[in-house]
Amino acid sequence: MTGLIVIVSGPGGAGKGTLVESLVARDRTLWLSRSWTTRARREGEPEDAYVFVDRATFESRVAEGGFLEWTEFLGNLYGSPVPQENPGRDVVLEIELNGAEQVKARHPGAIMVFVAPPSREEQQRRLVARGDSEEHVVERLRKAEEEEARGSRQADLVVVNDDLDRAVAEVELFIGAARAARR
Ligand code: 5GP
Repeated sequence: MTGLIVIVSGPGGAGKGTLVESLVARDRTLWLSRSWTTRARREGEPEDAYVFVDRATFESRVAEGGFLEWTEFLGNLYGSPVPQENPGRDVVLEIELNGAEQVKARHPGAIMVFVAPPSREEQQRRLVARGDSEEHVVERLRKAEEEEARGSRQADLVVVNDDLDRAVAEVELFIGAARAARR
């Protein structure tokens, strides 16, 4: 990989999806990697949110070495395909913490941004709003505690997502500095 790898991580309901969308819409030199998952598509979720596959298909791609990183998260597999070279463009990976650690280990030059929700209440509200089951919401909130402690230790930048525009601007500044440091 010659381009910069930007990892965006954070617990469910932190709003990292919205942040990443806004980031790649504003900076055409960034491209968002599309992950594979064995999770079923949520109602109303776009068909291209992921490459939705069954476990056997996912596992055969693992065996071929086709993932930069992959993990099991709440019973489903998620993975980022090995990124294609995309001259002049930098890849953004929106992934959970185990995956972020794998990428950092393989590519120490990758930068990791950890997105934290403004509060547990707001995070819960976002998870409920997107239609997660109550059981899932409880599970994700529990996981968030552990992820936040670990994530903020490992991240190069921690962004609190209370105001989207400000959060995006902070990440943009950080990416700009990382690009400048590589030149
Ligand atoms: P969700 O099921 O809510 O779409 O995603 C669950 C978690 O998996 C989120 O934290 C999301 O960022 C993460 N995730 C999505 N794609 C990948 C991936 O390719 N690799 C890893 N490690 N995590 C992913």
